[in-house]
Amino acid sequence: MVSETVHCERHGKRRATFVCSHLVGSLRTQQALGYYHAEDPGNPYPHAWCGLCDRYLFDHGGEWNDETEAFAGVKVLCSECYDEIRKINLNKPSLADALLNMGKPPKNARGKRT
Ligand SMILES: [Zn+2]
Ligand SMILES: [Zn+2]
Repeated sequence: MVSETVHCERHGKRRATFVCSHLVGSLRTQQALGYYHAEDPGNPYPHAWCGLCDRYLFDHGGEWNDETEAFAGVKVLCSECYDEIRKINLNKPSLADALLNMGKPPKNARGKRT
Protein backbone atom coordinates (compact mmCIF):
# COMPACT_ATOMS: atom_id res chain seq x y z
CA MET A 1 0.00 0.00 0.00
CA VAL A 2 1.30 3.43 -0.90
CA SER A 3 1.48 5.69 2.12
CA GLU A 4 -0.59 8.78 1.64
CA THR A 5 -0.01 12.12 3.25
CA VAL A 6 -2.41 14.37 5.07
CA HIS A 7 -2.23 18.01 6.08
CA CYS A 8 -2.82 18.19 9.82
CA GLU A 9 -3.95 21.46 11.41
CA ARG A 10 -1.61 20.86 14.31
CA HIS A 11 1.33 19.07 12.76
CA GLY A 12 1.39 20.02 9.11
CA LYS A 13 2.07 17.54 6.34
CA ARG A 14 2.39 14.05 7.71
CA ARG A 15 1.72 10.48 6.80
CA ALA A 16 -1.98 9.65 6.73
CA THR A 17 -3.27 7.14 9.27
CA PHE A 18 -6.73 5.69 9.83
CA VAL A 19 -8.41 5.41 13.22
CA CYS A 20 -11.97 5.08 14.48
CA SER A 21 -13.93 8.21 15.40
CA HIS A 22 -13.97 7.27 19.09
CA LEU A 23 -10.19 7.25 19.25
CA VAL A 24 -10.17 10.60 17.50
CA GLY A 25 -12.42 11.82 20.31
CA SER A 26 -9.99 10.48 22.92
CA LEU A 27 -7.45 12.96 21.63
CA ARG A 28 -9.70 15.71 22.92
CA THR A 29 -11.01 14.06 26.08
CA GLN A 30 -7.78 12.21 26.99
CA GLN A 31 -10.07 9.35 27.97
CA ALA A 32 -8.66 5.96 27.05
CA LEU A 33 -10.93 3.67 25.08
CA GLY A 34 -8.56 0.84 24.33
CA TYR A 35 -6.23 0.46 21.38
CA TYR A 36 -6.70 -2.27 18.79
CA HIS A 37 -5.08 -2.39 15.40
CA ALA A 38 -4.94 -4.25 12.13
CA GLU A 39 -2.35 -6.94 11.48
CA ASP A 40 -0.09 -4.94 9.26
CA PRO A 41 3.53 -6.00 9.63
CA GLY A 42 5.98 -3.31 8.66
CA ASN A 43 3.44 -0.53 9.03
CA PRO A 44 4.20 1.59 12.11
CA TYR A 45 0.69 3.06 11.86
CA PRO A 46 -1.72 0.21 11.25
CA HIS A 47 -5.42 1.05 11.11
CA ALA A 48 -6.57 1.39 14.71
CA TRP A 49 -9.84 1.21 16.59
CA CYS A 50 -11.10 1.31 20.16
CA GLY A 51 -12.55 -1.23 22.57
CA LEU A 52 -16.09 -0.32 21.60
CA CYS A 53 -15.40 -0.96 17.94
CA ASP A 54 -13.60 -4.17 18.77
CA ARG A 55 -16.61 -5.38 20.72
CA TYR A 56 -18.95 -4.32 17.93
CA LEU A 57 -16.75 -6.06 15.40
CA PHE A 58 -16.75 -9.23 17.48
CA ASP A 59 -20.54 -9.14 17.76
CA HIS A 60 -20.89 -8.72 14.00
CA GLY A 61 -18.83 -11.58 12.68
CA GLY A 62 -15.37 -10.11 13.21
CA GLU A 63 -15.17 -8.71 9.71
CA TRP A 64 -14.84 -5.13 8.62
CA ASN A 65 -17.75 -4.39 6.32
CA ASP A 66 -20.13 -1.52 5.65
CA GLU A 67 -21.90 -1.98 8.97
CA THR A 68 -18.85 -2.27 11.21
CA GLU A 69 -17.05 0.49 9.34
CA ALA A 70 -20.08 2.73 9.78
CA PHE A 71 -19.94 2.09 13.51
CA ALA A 72 -16.24 2.91 13.63
CA GLY A 73 -16.64 6.04 11.53
CA VAL A 74 -13.02 5.82 10.46
CA LYS A 75 -11.19 9.12 10.22
CA VAL A 76 -7.92 10.13 8.63
CA LEU A 77 -5.35 11.51 11.04
CA CYS A 78 -1.70 12.44 10.78
CA SER A 79 0.96 10.12 12.13
CA GLU A 80 1.73 12.38 15.10
CA CYS A 81 -1.89 12.54 16.16
CA TYR A 82 -1.90 8.77 15.83
CA ASP A 83 1.08 8.52 18.17
CA GLU A 84 -0.73 10.67 20.73
CA ILE A 85 -3.81 8.51 20.47
CA ARG A 86 -1.78 5.36 20.87
CA LYS A 87 -0.13 6.80 23.97
CA ILE A 88 -3.41 7.87 25.54
CA ASN A 89 -5.09 4.57 24.89
CA LEU A 90 -2.24 2.23 25.76
CA ASN A 91 -1.06 3.92 28.93
CA LYS A 92 -4.30 4.54 30.72
CA PRO A 93 -6.89 2.10 31.96
CA SER A 94 -9.57 1.98 29.35
CA LEU A 95 -13.08 3.11 30.17
CA ALA A 96 -14.38 0.95 27.37
CA ASP A 97 -12.66 -2.14 28.72
CA ALA A 98 -14.00 -1.43 32.19
CA LEU A 99 -17.51 -1.20 30.82
CA LEU A 100 -17.07 -4.28 28.68
CA ASN A 101 -15.78 -6.23 31.65
CA MET A 102 -18.98 -5.39 33.44
CA GLY A 103 -20.72 -7.09 30.53
CA LYS A 104 -22.58 -3.96 29.57
CA PRO A 105 -21.18 -2.41 26.44
CA PRO A 106 -22.58 1.09 26.07
CA LYS A 107 -24.79 1.34 23.05
CA ASN A 108 -25.74 4.47 21.22
CA ALA A 109 -28.57 2.81 19.43
CA ARG A 110 -30.85 1.49 22.13
CA GLY A 111 -32.08 -1.57 20.31
CA LYS A 112 -32.98 0.61 17.38
CA ARG A 113 -31.98 -0.72 14.01
CA THR A 114 -31.07 1.68 11.30
ZN1 LIG B 1 -14.09 3.05 18.08
ZN1 LIG C 1 -1.62 15.81 13.69
